[in-house]
Amino acid sequence: MTKIIGVDLGGTKILARMVDPTTGESKGRVKRPTPKTGPADVLAKVADVVDELDPDRQCEAVGIGVPGLVTQSGVVTLCPNINGWDSPVDVASILSERLDRTVAVGNDVNVGALAEHRVGAGRGFSDMATVFVGTGVGGGLVLNDRLVAGDRGMAGEIGHVTTHVGGRTCGCGGKGHMEAYAGRAGLEAEARRRHAAGDENELVRLAGEGRIKSSFIEKAIKANDPVTLELIDEAVEALAISIGSMATLLDLPMVVLGGGVVDRLGQDFLDRIHSSPSFGGFGSHVCELRLAQRLDDAGVVGAAILAADAST
Ligand SMILES: [Zn+2]
Repeated sequence: MTKIIGVDLGGTKILARMVDPTTGESKGRVKRPTPKTGPADVLAKVADVVDELDPDRQCEAVGIGVPGLVTQSGVVTLCPNINGWDSPVDVASILSERLDRTVAVGNDVNVGALAEHRVGAGRGFSDMATVFVGTGVGGGLVLNDRLVAGDRGMAGEIGHVTTHVGGRTCGCGGKGHMEAYAGRAGLEAEARRRHAAGDENELVRLAGEGRIKSSFIEKAIKANDPVTLELIDEAVEALAISIGSMATLLDLPMVVLGGGVVDRLGQDFLDRIHSSPSFGGFGSHVCELRLAQRLDDAGVVGAAILAADAST
């Protein structure tokens, strides 16, 4: 099987590996910091990383996962996590010319969904979605065995559906979005707001001035901290409403959950979401929930699968 280069382009690092897209196995590894000096330098660095990983040109195609909105043709229109990326950049065209190879570009969460679908928890399901609960909440959708990104790249963005009418302000500026309740940043903002208002809690005590990490959330739950338990109840409800609705609307038999918060809270958290009275849909078991299997390598593996799909 031809190997394909998978690149995980993040806000702080660029990681590339040679991946067999049929098995998800990978070899070779080049990792470099992401330049802070704008997209031209970032793309030049991606090309250098590919040259270094594959000097003999064993791989004919390159897939790249990017933390931003990506159009069908590989133009990255919005990329807030990379410094200086303030206008659309045709990443696919620029890099395919520079590298003289087929280049496919996708959103990082979407390519993570592809990795779960082909070589992770979603194997055997033609229709499925993934929901990654980390700082924010991202999602990816696979229908008929193909990634559905949408013309504007917004398909599967489940974090920004409204679950609480008139509720908390989301990172995107909207009100009552699921991410404001289930994402780590939304949870942190609410825990700090309550702490400052006199509702002291274990999350803020553990984190001090630092970030409220997923491990602190786990500890505060174990300590039965009342504010934390309330915040987690709300997170469970927001996830149950949105995932149950999505599964009903699209007839999805299975949804994969991953990301830092889910990795920490594990199967118990999934069971709570699944058994929540807010988990809507026809019947009580509209879809199964599974933990993600591809953890740190979902980005490179999924990017390579995207490129493999694009060249068939
Ligand atoms: Zn939002």
